[in-house]
Amino acid sequence: MVDKVPYLDLAAQMKPIRAEIDKAIAENLDRCSFCLGPDVEQFEKDFATFCTTSHSIAFNSGTSALHVALRLLDIQPGDEIVTTPFTFVATSWAISYCHAKPVYVDIDPKTFNLDPKKLEAAITPRTKAIMPVHLYGHPFDVDPILEIGRKHKLPVIEDAAQAHGAAYKGKTVGSFGVAAGFSFYPGKNLGAYGEAGALTTNDPAMAARAKSLREHGSKVRYYHDEIGYNYRMEGVQGAVLKVKLKYLREWTNARQRVARRYNSLLAGLPLELPSEAPGCESAWHLYVVRHPKREEIKKHLEAAGVGCALHYPMPLHLQKCYEFLGYKQGDFPESERAANQCLSLPIYPELTEKQQDRVVDVVKQYFKA
Ligand SMILES: *Cc1c(COP(=O)(O)O)cnc(C)c1O
Repeated sequence: MVDKVPYLDLAAQMKPIRAEIDKAIAENLDRCSFCLGPDVEQFEKDFATFCTTSHSIAFNSGTSALHVALRLLDIQPGDEIVTTPFTFVATSWAISYCHAKPVYVDIDPKTFNLDPKKLEAAITPRTKAIMPVHLYGHPFDVDPILEIGRKHKLPVIEDAAQAHGAAYKGKTVGSFGVAAGFSFYPGKNLGAYGEAGALTTNDPAMAARAKSLREHGSKVRYYHDEIGYNYRMEGVQGAVLKVKLKYLREWTNARQRVARRYNSLLAGLPLELPSEAPGCESAWHLYVVRHPKREEIKKHLEAAGVGCALHYPMPLHLQKCYEFLGYKQGDFPESERAANQCLSLPIYPELTEKQQDRVVDVVKQYFKA
């Protein structure tokens, strides 16, 4: 009997660092710094260094961080934010929470990211920002998008929820826009043991305002300058994240090795394999192949005990919750095609070569049959 290969294995990552995590959590509990506090502050400093930004502000989720990033731009009801329809829905939540309107632009099928060639056509006098995503850990096309932003005087907010440590022309993502949002949801490349996120920025005024918005819109307790939120990170998540961050570079390197090995082992099959665009270093959050019969391949893998997943089976412009935007099938053909063809194979730093060989064998079996 061949072992199953899980799609994700968070226990494998916890095991070697468990003693260190237990100690950090115990210290946090001893201090009773349950919300924000010294562990969170230490993590904020370390994460800013990791992202090469002057500031990182800890949040209770990536969605909250993205929401506050847009609040920093004073987005008003009816404003338009240009973004991608091929992403996790939370990118558009941030826009909707500001009562603004997501305006979608189709993706480049090679990187699954917002296609800069199609961006300018979506800009109107009501556009207030551009919000692309570094999807699957692969940087979006930074230079052309920043250039269009400069030309139209539009700030860029990066959704870096999947891309901790990815680089574009040698520079770390999360440092390009006026602000960026990261998620530390447990399955992300840097995962908390619960919900967590962060906002990065190089602007000290924005950093100060983000901190205030995170904590009920107040800089001085019980004095509220503007309507804010309770978006604080829990102390225990800061304790976990400050330990895990030390290993993130090493884990990202391991993901890159797994991706390269898949690319060489799966080469020659009638599957479209992911690749890195010139100048881009992916953080390989996901390893996504494409095939018109991906439902069949998925069933075949699952029957053989190999985990796989779909990211994402329905683009946002066709979701029920966004019906009111008035988009229809056919509006973004590349996003729709990607949604129908994408298939995510297991990728994580702890995936062994033996496990990976098993995944590859099962995929090959499908094409032999
Ligand atoms: C995970 C994710 C988010 C939201 O992060 P949470 O921490 O789950 O709120 C936003 N955007 C993208 C692209 C994501 O993958």
